[in-house]
Amino acid sequence: SLDSTDSVISTGSTGNTGGSSRPFRVVLLGARGVGKSAIASIFAGAADSMDSDECDSLYLCSLQDEGGSSQDQCIQTGDAYLLVYSITDRSSFLQASELRISLRQRRPAHHTPIILVGNKCDLVRRREVSVTEGRACAAVFDCKFIETSAAMQHNVWPAFHGIVQQLRLRRDTKEN
Ligand code: GDP
Repeated sequence: SLDSTDSVISTGSTGNTGGSSRPFRVVLLGARGVGKSAIASIFAGAADSMDSDECDSLYLCSLQDEGGSSQDQCIQTGDAYLLVYSITDRSSFLQASELRISLRQRRPAHHTPIILVGNKCDLVRRREVSVTEGRACAAVFDCKFIETSAAMQHNVWPAFHGIVQQLRLRRDTKEN
């Protein structure tokens, strides 16, 4: 299990252990302060409200850019990844790109669900990264893109469903 990060959250019911599916691990990667914890807590509520056993446990592993073995472990054990940056912080956008590169090196599987998430889109006046740039970056990195506001609870639910949908698809086609 993941033991050394400050923000690993396990959520959902623990009663559905009889099924064949193991819990999904969703890893949130991004610079400090971009809103990973805020997104994770909304996800936790979303997972709890699902009655299916497919999401009976969602591990949310939130990583800063400090590297080390806990980051390696987190990256290697994820089933899906959210690369989070803040639209108000260009350096966090650049860090998301770097994280995408290390993710590709360590998780080269083609069908690993990855979403680039531009958070804090409620802070319009402080925007440093445009929607166009975010979208272009996602296209280059071959992943999905969404802008969210954890503060306003805007688009976080669709991001969650996007991940779950991709995980189900991948499992159903047995490409994992
Ligand atoms: P983490 O370090 O990536 O886990 O970031 P946190 O979730 O701790 O968020 C850092 C700060 O940004 C906190 O003060 C949050 O309240 C704030 N924050 C997170 N998401 C949003 C958002 O969508 N909009 C705004 N305005 N603030 C946010």
